[in-house]
Amino acid sequence: MEIYCDNAATTALDPEVIEAILPFLTQNFGNPSSTHWAGRKVKDAVVDARKTIATLLNTSPDEIYFTSGATEAINLAISGAIVTYEISHVVTSKIEHKAVLQTIAQHEKEGDIETSFVKLDERGNVDLYHLENLLRANPRTLISLMHGNNEIGNLTDIQAISKLAQRYNAIFFTDTTQTIGKQWIDLSQTPIDFLVGSAHKFHGPKGVGFIYINKKHRIKAQIFGGGQEKGQRGGTENVIGIVGLAKALEVAYRDLDANHSKVCKLKQYMVSKLAISGVHGICYNGESHSLENSLVNILNVSFPCLADGSLVKSLDSIGIAVSGGSACSSQGSSHVISALPCQKDKENVRFSFSKFNTFDEIDHIVQAIVSIYKAGPISQNQSRFHFELTH
Ligand code: PLP
Repeated sequence: MEIYCDNAATTALDPEVIEAILPFLTQNFGNPSSTHWAGRKVKDAVVDARKTIATLLNTSPDEIYFTSGATEAINLAISGAIVTYEISHVVTSKIEHKAVLQTIAQHEKEGDIETSFVKLDERGNVDLYHLENLLRANPRTLISLMHGNNEIGNLTDIQAISKLAQRYNAIFFTDTTQTIGKQWIDLSQTPIDFLVGSAHKFHGPKGVGFIYINKKHRIKAQIFGGGQEKGQRGGTENVIGIVGLAKALEVAYRDLDANHSKVCKLKQYMVSKLAISGVHGICYNGESHSLENSLVNILNVSFPCLADGSLVKSLDSIGIAVSGGSACSSQGSSHVISALPCQKDKENVRFSFSKFNTFDEIDHIVQAIVSIYKAGPISQNQSRFHFELTH
């Protein structure tokens, strides 16, 4: 039995998305820049996709630009803002995605900017007082703070940050890769300068995403070419991806309440099952087991270390796909967990659910965890954790 419980890394295509993109894999193959019938057919699809996304975020289509995914969109937002507005100070946090941290680090290395890391509390929440002090001391700062954390699920109060940004004339970019399609974002109510989305996080295709650029900005492009995307991003549009992206977002927002409630129940169920599993020393990272303060699809759990091997690998060996930290940092200890004050000496496992997961699968996962701890001793240096199994 194969179980996929790593939906923060990527998600399966929705059948409705597959249906929507099929004609663009077959008969609708034109280049949207061509002025003949074949081009016009696909150009209309790109125009419609842009409208769909704009409507769902309550903004206008000319503020949506297609990219190859969130990483590219993040690079465009951060580098575009720094270069265009000669920004010399950036505020971010230690638990942002590497696409954000590496882009900022590169600008710092090149001497363009200084970076301030906003203080986080022990659960990884942004200290808004510290943020305000940083903004007060540094006019025209670029703020880059994510909306939903991809490892521990923490949700950030983007409304409050948006207000601070306005008060101190800062530019506000928020990485919404994990929240687009899962949280309502009304851009007419929450002024934001840039945000990003990636289709494969909400049951769309991989390699396609978008950036929202508030209409007051026109930033320096990172990819130059034939003037596509109004010159903000050159290159022939990924029509198949764009059609799939728009369909996936439409379906995600149409079914948001039902999916939210289902996934919420899955998370609660897993927490309740782990509580009676008999595996002691389990705790939760960040806000991940709070239903209000975190994404309902992410549960980041600390387990006692196994003396031999890893829990993530043992689960994989029996067909259960979960992640140790972020899929992007599977080679080492996660920078997100390292930025939090606890749980460094434990094995941190991220379970991330989708509408396609079932309660039976959760039962199966918890049973598998119990069997693994029953079969393998835990590490000696974990002996302070009382460990027993209920049968
Ligand atoms: N930002 C966050 C919070 C993410 O979770 C991810 C994906 O892991 C990215 C950015 C990068 O997205 P993409 O895979 O579209 O480049």
